[in-house]
Amino acid sequence: MGLLAHKGAMVPVAAAARLTLARSASAAAAASSSSSAVPPGAAPPSSGAGSTTAATTGGQKQSSATPPPPPPPPPPPHLTAAGFASQPAMKTAAATQHQVTVSAAQDLSSSEYQNVDGLRYDDGRYATFVESIRDTIVPPERIITDAVRTYAYGTDASFYRLVPKIVVKVHNEDEVSQILVQANKHQTPVTFRAAGTSLSGQAVTDSVLMKLSHTGDHFRNYTIHGNGEQITVEPGLIGGEINRLLAAHRRTCGHEQQYKIGPDPSSIDSCMIGGIIANNSSGMCCGVSQNTYHTLKDMRIVLLDGAVLDTADEASRASFMKSHAHLVSGVVDLATRIQADEELAALIRRKYSIKCTTGYSLNALVDFPPSDPIEIIKRLMIGSEGTLGFISQATINTVPEYDNKASAFVVFPTVKDGAGAASVLRKTTMVDAVELFDTASLRECEGNARMRELVPSIVGCDEGTTALLIECRGKDKAALDKRIAEVVRAIKEADHINVTGNDVEAYPFSEDKDVFNVYWDVRKGLIPIVGAARETGTSMLIEDVACDVDKLGDMMEDLIEMFKRHKYHDASCFGHALEGNLHLVFSQGFRNDEEIERYSQMMQELCEIVADKYGGSLKAEHSTGRNVAPFVEMEWGSKAYNLMWELKRLFDPHGILNPGVILNEDEDVHKKALKASPPADAIVDRCIECGFCESNCPSRDLSLTPRQRITVYREMSRLRAMDASELTVEDAQRLREFETNWTYNGEQTCAADGMCQEKCPVKINTGELIKSIRSRNLAEGHATELRAADFAARNWGTLDRLVPTGLGIATAAASVLGDGVLTSVSKALNSVSGGWVPVWNNYMPTGAKSAHFEVATNASSPAPAAAELPPVEAIYLMACPARTMGPARGDEGAGGRSVPQVLRSLADKADVDLKLMPNATSLCCGLAFSSRGLQAAAESKGDEMVDALVKATDNGRIPVVCDTSPCMAHIQMSAMAKSPSMQFLEPVEFTQRILAPRLDFSNPRNEPVAIHVPCSSKKLGKEAAFGDLVSKCCNGTAPVSSGIPCCGMAGDRGLRYPQLTASSLQHLKLPDNIKDGYSTSRTCEISLSNHSGKHFRSVLYLVDEVTTPKKSSSASA
Ligand SMILES: Cc1cc2nc3c(=O)[nH]c(=O)nc-3n(C[C@H](O)[C@H](O)[C@H](O)COP(=O)(O)OP(=O)(O)OC[C@H]3O[C@@H](n4cnc5c(N)ncnc54)[C@H](O)[C@@H]3O)c2cc1C
Ligand code: SF4
Ligand code: SF4
Repeated sequence: MGLLAHKGAMVPVAAAARLTLARSASAAAAASSSSSAVPPGAAPPSSGAGSTTAATTGGQKQSSATPPPPPPPPPPPHLTAAGFASQPAMKTAAATQHQVTVSAAQDLSSSEYQNVDGLRYDDGRYATFVESIRDTIVPPERIITDAVRTYAYGTDASFYRLVPKIVVKVHNEDEVSQILVQANKHQTPVTFRAAGTSLSGQAVTDSVLMKLSHTGDHFRNYTIHGNGEQITVEPGLIGGEINRLLAAHRRTCGHEQQYKIGPDPSSIDSCMIGGIIANNSSGMCCGVSQNTYHTLKDMRIVLLDGAVLDTADEASRASFMKSHAHLVSGVVDLATRIQADEELAALIRRKYSIKCTTGYSLNALVDFPPSDPIEIIKRLMIGSEGTLGFISQATINTVPEYDNKASAFVVFPTVKDGAGAASVLRKTTMVDAVELFDTASLRECEGNARMRELVPSIVGCDEGTTALLIECRGKDKAALDKRIAEVVRAIKEADHINVTGNDVEAYPFSEDKDVFNVYWDVRKGLIPIVGAARETGTSMLIEDVACDVDKLGDMMEDLIEMFKRHKYHDASCFGHALEGNLHLVFSQGFRNDEEIERYSQMMQELCEIVADKYGGSLKAEHSTGRNVAPFVEMEWGSKAYNLMWELKRLFDPHGILNPGVILNEDEDVHKKALKASPPADAIVDRCIECGFCESNCPSRDLSLTPRQRITVYREMSRLRAMDASELTVEDAQRLREFETNWTYNGEQTCAADGMCQEKCPVKINTGELIKSIRSRNLAEGHATELRAADFAARNWGTLDRLVPTGLGIATAAASVLGDGVLTSVSKALNSVSGGWVPVWNNYMPTGAKSAHFEVATNASSPAPAAAELPPVEAIYLMACPARTMGPARGDEGAGGRSVPQVLRSLADKADVDLKLMPNATSLCCGLAFSSRGLQAAAESKGDEMVDALVKATDNGRIPVVCDTSPCMAHIQMSAMAKSPSMQFLEPVEFTQRILAPRLDFSNPRNEPVAIHVPCSSKKLGKEAAFGDLVSKCCNGTAPVSSGIPCCGMAGDRGLRYPQLTASSLQHLKLPDNIKDGYSTSRTCEISLSNHSGKHFRSVLYLVDEVTTPKKSSSASA
């Protein structure tokens, strides 16, 4: 089997450099043996003398001993270090507790450090820990201790908040290994964080958070093996990204079969493989058989003592068996005991026949012989939530992804009918996915017009109505048809199942994407709908339970009745029925004791229904976390529960690895450290803190992510809203610290591009919040800036004429003095002006040369027809960047021409009557003002432009062409509000719709080029069209995408805060064979050129280069 290796996920397969991920046997052995020099410090498992409680085994009550508390940690050395020495231990902890959590009664009477949430005071050990890792292991800038960013990192998608004392951004396995040694030595617990989309409180801590994501290109390497049947990945790759890499691999190598990773959580485009493995996440299609447990091949694991086990490496395995004999024999002993206990082994097998992520993966201890402890350890890591070790690499067996698929949306009159049908399908067919919707969910679907049209029986449906969204897939069309027929027959033949309307064929399977995407989109939208509709100040909760599919209908009825009794009127219930897995989504406030008590009672009852009554799983796929840690014993029974404690102590005797998660002796832990959701601003109040937006944000590696901006802003709003009499000195100081830190991290480094909205399930644009804050800030005390903006708006034409001259002088100066001088001078000016003066770089534009266009009049008439095509006219909206900024110095490919000159050339070639708007040079869409928060000036310029457009286009009759996508996107909305028939064309659409039919692509490039689709074009849905056009220009060769969601330029912000584009574009890796790149925004092109070293210019240059006037109609056929 061939081995293809790639470095850097953003690099397309064809261009990726060879990377050796798997270390050689000798290196691994060296790692193992060198780390074995560090004493494991593992005390033998405790013999179990503890208190006795009533518990259950497999639903049977029994009496047994609960595990004793872990042995106390050795007293920490009381050393001090800068940043911590000055903080009295008690004050820090008390402040944290008071500020950030609404918690049920918590014992803060003790000032002694205890390894439980809320009592991990800084008694000196954290200072010592920092001292031990700073400079020697990680540089100081990757150790975060300030109040604001630690608060921001305290947020995951769960409804728990714990604020880490220290956040360490880790870059590689060696760092993790060395840090773990120090954490173990100084007894400072650590929690790993991938994407932080966990829902059960397993990715938060009040101790040390080790963040492996949003730290550049680290932990993002991968190797695709053979045709894609296997892939080796590092933990920071996003699940969806891995699937895209596999798809690109197939495209490039021409393999017949497409592969994907088995686990398919609905969060797959945001969560990372480290989190997917550590949570054993799954989703709609993977079921039990394709989750990580069943698809993992190998793993590299970093243990608490810093040792690295590479399960793929014989030498590493052998060395580990010797160096970790105590751990290995403990695992062997556990497996032997469990396998000898038939009842327990049967319970474990039964529990994993359905989805289960409650507790540790005990199936590892029954599925493999005790003689194979490495295989057992590897599988135990799955679903261990960072409590047994760190996963630094995994090799996964992928599963086939079939192109042939079809879905049907079938409605049933009752819960029992719907759930019963799911059971029949599971037992008698090879169906691929069955998603269930309860009546509350169907009421949400009714809001979708296409759904009402496609499935009319959901409209006004009776209480109890249940629907199944069924998907079949096939290797080929024949296989697909066979599966569909099987499903239809199974439902028809099941006498006890009624279908609404009595005819299952009234709900046909559709292979049409436009139809089945409607079904799947409403399914994916169910969580956000509840999230968006909830009362301000409440959180959205998602419980995740499972039972044997035969019992699903009964369990669902009980749960719906329970929610009604506890007055959760917005609760809805839906999920992966094929696996007996239901998600229960509802809103919950944690604002006072009554709300917490209501939650507590409901949780207790929910657990009793699911675990006791139906023998089900309290966490089917979201993992235990803190949320169901107190109920693990209820679900599993005392025997299995005690074995889990033994297991934990074998790997982590002192509770250093994510303590309190999965197993927790505090029976109230699920109702402590609850996250308040204070109102902050209507723009962001619906935020569910899921974190889906983070990977799209250009400032994610630099300052804050959108989720973190919202989190921090919520906390500032809470503090600001406090009555002066309530505000303590500490609160006031904290607010000041937040406000100071916010200016740079929250406000200045937000590009306000709104790419966060593209991934947000409740469609929040954090950039809008930031723009409104900028606007408020300016109104509150920046009269000079406002006056300057007003002056600029009124004299735009004059300024516009000055810019090309200024750029001409600057580029001339740069050629004489060198770019270095200009860069240094501009950096100094940028610094003293507080980021108002742009920083010079080597790719700054020259002044743009003007092009001649006739000015449009209302009475304009179409030009004569080109060839046999009808006449075409268009109005040219020449955006400020294109008319002022010419090509960069040294950009041979641009031939010294400006974008307007290129457009002139294209219009002439295609015989398109392109007329300029009257007063073009004094007009501006207003984007330059709006992104700075200069709202009044933005609105006045925008209005002026819209009025001019309405006139010039004859009230929308003539299309408008704009050379710059962001400017067009900005003006389009307001223009269309005034004249709904207005048609806007950005460069790609203009080329495809108007120019292309009138041109021959007779001189195509025979090589790939790079493209960067600006955020605005992505939002307009032009990404695919951009790729198609460039491919056409390159003789069918697909372009190499920058892979950057947003470059961070945002008008000129990236020039004023160059660290923003530098941070975003550190992910830009273009293969060596790429000579140049194309985009549709001049300022973005500057930053892309600057960070890739290759000239980026408007895509119009490429179109002009490869086209000639059309010869005849036959040529176009
Ligand atoms: C709206 C929404 C929908 C969701 N839908 C689903 C769904 O359909 N199915 C599903 O299963 N889940 C779902 N989830 C939950 C969550 O997205 C998944 O559990 C996901 O796999 C978590 O990955 P992450 O990268 O966010 O991990 P994180 O949350 O960062 O971490 C998860 C756990 O893994 C540990 N960890 C992280 N990296 C490592 C490592 N390298 N080594 C060891 N431990 C590590 C962490 O300490 C933590 O305990 C959903 C979440 C949201 C918000
Ligand atoms: S802004 Fe949207 S995507 Fe981001 S955390 Fe909030 S809800 Fe999730
Ligand atoms: S607007 Fe852009 S920079 Fe600002 S939070 Fe959203 S994605 Fe990040």
